Amino acid sequence: MKELQANMPCPVCKNAESKVLVRMQNMPVFCNVLRQSVEEAQAVIRGDIELVLCDHCSHIYNRQFNPAIVRYQPGYENSLHFSKRYRSYAAQQVERLLDTYNLSGQGIIDIGCGKGEFLQLFTRLGNCTGTGFEPTADPLEERDLSDIIIVSDTFTEHYFDIPAKCYASRHVLEHLSDPVPFLKTIRQAMNGKDALLFLEIPDGAYMLEQCSIWDVIYEHYTYFTPLSLRYLLEHTGFHCGEIQSGFGGQYLFVDAFPQAEGNVAISSGEEMAENAIFRMAEEFALCSGKRYEKVEELIGTELQCGRKIVLWGAGSKGVTLLNQLPDPGIIQYVVDINPGKQGKYIPGSGQLVVSPEFLDTFHPDTVLIMNDMYRREIQDCLDSLNLSARIHSL
Ligand SMILES: [Zn+2]
Repeated sequence: MKELQANMPCPVCKNAESKVLVRMQNMPVFCNVLRQSVEEAQAVIRGDIELVLCDHCSHIYNRQFNPAIVRYQPGYENSLHFSKRYRSYAAQQVERLLDTYNLSGQGIIDIGCGKGEFLQLFTRLGNCTGTGFEPTADPLEERDLSDIIIVSDTFTEHYFDIPAKCYASRHVLEHLSDPVPFLKTIRQAMNGKDALLFLEIPDGAYMLEQCSIWDVIYEHYTYFTPLSLRYLLEHTGFHCGEIQSGFGGQYLFVDAFPQAEGNVAISSGEEMAENAIFRMAEEFALCSGKRYEKVEELIGTELQCGRKIVLWGAGSKGVTLLNQLPDPGIIQYVVDINPGKQGKYIPGSGQLVVSPEFLDTFHPDTVLIMNDMYRREIQDCLDSLNLSARIHSL
């Protein structure tokens, strides 16, 4: 099995030649399933990450990924919509799609819709009909979904008849062990319809450029770059518009349209190889090592000076960092504004997730934040609690 995995070809272009970017061992398989106790948190299933860059299409993927240990279930929580900053970004995307493609009053299908927040933006801003597919949705959970339907299933040919003018899929592709059949299914569903596909995913090239080692998580089997996303779309029957960057450069998004078979423009291998991404890859291992050293140094200094530290953000970035610290015990609490995470424990490293109000009792001197995009909103929250803790963006 190990032998097979070592030669795992690129899931986008099937090329077997790749370059190792970074290795991380014993990482929790699920960053986004918080646990009920420290013991449970420390006993989670773990896996190894060997992140590689495909020589041919510049796709980034974990060559040690084992899909058999990744089973999404109810309780999976990775909603970004608790953040005002993200909500406003998502609303702008929906307004752009409504205006550009006259989607008002039309059917929208969101595949991997989470709790349906994106669909609800379409129904509220554009009076659309929204249907979401979410295998991790708990069919028994009571929620106010009067304006949309969430199907607790994967999207298959059984659902091709649902009228839709726009198929959306956000933050799903990077979790799939084989994104090709996923896109081919959506492409088939679009046959005979005048519809478009909207995709949004983390930008793997931005991750390399920014040296965002905290973005490397086991759940993300792959990290698309603009080139590998275009390659995938063009090989699954789509013509894609401009691949754009959103949310401060952290995401890639694209509007894609069905393209008749046999009329596909394929990007050349040379075009790929000349891309700056291959140069950034050279730097990644070195600079990510330096980032860890800096964080350890910063935490060491704060603790030596007797300052109390919390980490803000129990999302993927926070979980990765905490699981890579040599002594995770040096940080006791993680703050998160999502009530669904509070009172639970970080998988692997085992810190308790607390509400911002908890800081009124704890009085931290230093707040470490994982994503500078949220600095303003975190500062506002600290101000409203009359806390003068210093924020350090990692
Ligand atoms: Zn490839």
